[in-house]
Amino acid sequence: MEQTFFAKLPLLEECQVLVAGAGPAGLCAAVSAAREGCDVLLIEKLGSVGGALTAGHIRTCMGGVSEGTMRDELGKLLETGGACIPHDTEKAKYRLALWLKENGVRLLLGTCVCGVTKEASSVTGVVVATADGLMRIDAKEVIDATGDGTVAVLAGVPFEKGRASDGLMQPASILYTIAGVESDLVCTHESDDTLLPDSRSYLALCKEAHLSGELPKNVDIVRLYGGAAKDERLVNANQLCYVDGTSPADIAASDLELRRQIHQVTNFLRNNLPGFEHCRVLQSGEMPGFRETRRLEGREKLEASDISSGRKREDVLVHNALFCFDTHNPDGGGQAEDLETARAVKPYDIPFGCFVPKEIRHLLFVGRCISGSHKAHSSYRVMNICMAMGEAVGLAAALAVIRKIPSCEMNVSDIQQKLEQRGVCLFDSKVS
Ligand SMILES: Cc1cc2nc3c(=O)[nH]c(=O)nc-3n(C[C@H](O)[C@H](O)[C@H](O)COP(=O)(O)OP(=O)(O)OC[C@H]3O[C@@H](n4cnc5c(N)ncnc54)[C@H](O)[C@@H]3O)c2cc1C
Repeated sequence: MEQTFFAKLPLLEECQVLVAGAGPAGLCAAVSAAREGCDVLLIEKLGSVGGALTAGHIRTCMGGVSEGTMRDELGKLLETGGACIPHDTEKAKYRLALWLKENGVRLLLGTCVCGVTKEASSVTGVVVATADGLMRIDAKEVIDATGDGTVAVLAGVPFEKGRASDGLMQPASILYTIAGVESDLVCTHESDDTLLPDSRSYLALCKEAHLSGELPKNVDIVRLYGGAAKDERLVNANQLCYVDGTSPADIAASDLELRRQIHQVTNFLRNNLPGFEHCRVLQSGEMPGFRETRRLEGREKLEASDISSGRKREDVLVHNALFCFDTHNPDGGGQAEDLETARAVKPYDIPFGCFVPKEIRHLLFVGRCISGSHKAHSSYRVMNICMAMGEAVGLAAALAVIRKIPSCEMNVSDIQQKLEQRGVCLFDSKVS
């Protein structure tokens, strides 16, 4: 019934590879596919490209991967060299859009996927909501880079949410930047023993303010990243638990509460930190940031044990991914794990099967919605790792189109060979 309705919708576009979502994973997937000579259409529901990296105000690209991936290219484009230094989101919006154009990717903004067209178990395209109403886009291969796994779920791919014990997901936050700081103070992590000018511990001050109610309920650390303009700090502090980033009502509630917290946290900084008396909010995420929503079921599932043991795979597409287990507490303040547990990780591989659904054909997924457990997700979700995933998966889709086979039937060694020809290191032990 639904498919009969979709078939009657006006055709907006046709393409070989369609990528839905222009975050770090989708951008790289689109450029990667286009570099194989495919006709690639990238569609994005917002009015600019970059996803969390721009509109989400997540200004620090984190995570290690092997040498030669698109993470290196984007590090240059963002002027960070791939290091954890806040990038300029305004420059990024323009440069990323230009990068797409220069690489021959066709882009549609303000275009939200709200349905999937299918023939039996094969995806044939998507239905999008635009200002002109619902329309169809036909594609040979579709890549879900929506972060939320929306395309895959609409195509019928099963998914999980949250941790196994109670289904709770990581909390939401809105990151923001303050300006007008006249101090050198930075604090990026629970393990930083930052001191105030009078030698008091900054972290202890945060804890006291949390207990007294000066800071919001679940906020006991206010992370302050420096490294861009001298008088600016990127603030990662506010937090809201028990919300679901795929629920429109929860998104609205998160937006209101987290913006209230921005002012509470900023007042704490002004009132307690020498040099922060005149700081002001310069810019914030355009929407609440949800660290975790749906995790799709793939042919394979990345487990926490793969990450703690540094498991290497013959069917690797992302090599030597490295980031701690970064689980912001789903049920209170701080982190869910102690530092020792969080840091018990080794460079690991992400195999092809984590990007491929079990039953549905002509569909791949990439980015934070890939197939993995709640704990594994807390590591692979960071942006540098998502970029490397995007490159590999975009290439897989392009090669499938060129060979006229469904992407799920691609021979992994063919994808690997092409990645290596591009300079991506897949089988050695160096981590950059
Ligand atoms: C609060 C917070 C702090 C974080 N801090 C860091 C950090 O410091 N460093 C780091 O590296 N990572 C951090 N992360 C993680 C990281 O930002 C994400 O995991 C990463 O951006 C995922 O990339 P992605 O491309 O999969 O998804 P996103 O960046 O979420 O991009 C998905 C894109 O798809 C679009 N989209 C969604 N649905 C549709 C649809 N139906 N139709 C069309 N388009 C759609 C979205 O608008 C978006 O542009 C943080 C995340 C959050 C929320």
